[in-house]
Amino acid sequence: MGVIDRAKAVSGFSETQEETRPYVCLACETTFEIQHHRCPVCGSFDVRCAKWVQD
Ligand SMILES: [Zn+2]
Repeated sequence: MGVIDRAKAVSGFSETQEETRPYVCLACETTFEIQHHRCPVCGSFDVRCAKWVQD
């Protein structure tokens, strides 16, 4: 297990989720396979790459 794998485990972020749905709406936290310009669920424009927002 490498450092990156351990970091993922610590963050609690599912590796499977990251690979299949790498984008997330910051407003409603729905994840997507593609990056929508506007969230189809809540209409927010805050759809970001999940890698940037996981903390
Ligand atoms: Zn949303």
